[in-house]
Amino acid sequence: MSELTDIGANLTNRAFAGDTKEVLARAHDAGVTRLLITGTSVELSAHARRITSDRRLHGPVKLFSTAGIHPHHASTHGELAMRSLGELLVHDDVVAVGECGLDFNRNFSEKKDQLACFEAQLALAASVKKPVFLHERDATDAFAEILARHRPKLVGAVVHCFTGDASALARYLEMDLHIGITGWICDERRGRHLFDLVKTIPRNRIMVETDAPYLFPRDLDKARRRNEPCFVKHVAATVARARGETPEDLATISTENARRLFSLP
Ligand SMILES: [Zn+2]
Repeated sequence: MSELTDIGANLTNRAFAGDTKEVLARAHDAGVTRLLITGTSVELSAHARRITSDRRLHGPVKLFSTAGIHPHHASTHGELAMRSLGELLVHDDVVAVGECGLDFNRNFSEKKDQLACFEAQLALAASVKKPVFLHERDATDAFAEILARHRPKLVGAVVHCFTGDASALARYLEMDLHIGITGWICDERRGRHLFDLVKTIPRNRIMVETDAPYLFPRDLDKARRRNEPCFVKHVAATVARARGETPEDLATISTENARRLFSLP
């Protein structure tokens, strides 16, 4: 059976507090062998690392985490925060800086804080020589401009949960970024354009993820439910169908891409 990698699951979310072990068992049954737990603040990045080092959860799914500050929490940035992230990033199983980026959709943090927080994390990623896990929503121009400046110093990057249009995709691929696709593609109301776009992503740049507990694949069940890493299998199958590839092939290439970018064993 081919191996799947969920490059983004928010297992620090309280939705998973009671049953992480069962969630991982179900993920494994679905073919998931590697999973990255997303860090979205200093505190939750430390929490993510605690989950990966929890011996009780050690099983067939290899766990890794990221360390970063989501744009929603950008007002917490500063020297101390960067030092704390740097301390987490010393560990081999903390494989990327992020998620970081810009979100001008909801503007939970002021723009100036978002810009400063993003720049600081790109500099951190360059100094620790780890890739970045990026978030961008309604901010393509500012995001691409900042990234272009830092790109030469970065070892690599993935734009997670890509939901943009053809021109945004072209700009990101031109900067040699990887593209993460979530269950957004399974939503016939707002994901239709993505279904058509994913076939233009090169084989060596595509990855899949759930962003669980968010973004439950809408075509599985119209009722909103808690999303889980096991549903990355459904995301991968949908991406494969859109690209005219087999689910096995898509699982294989997306896992190879994740292993290469994040240096996963
Ligand atoms: Zn995100």
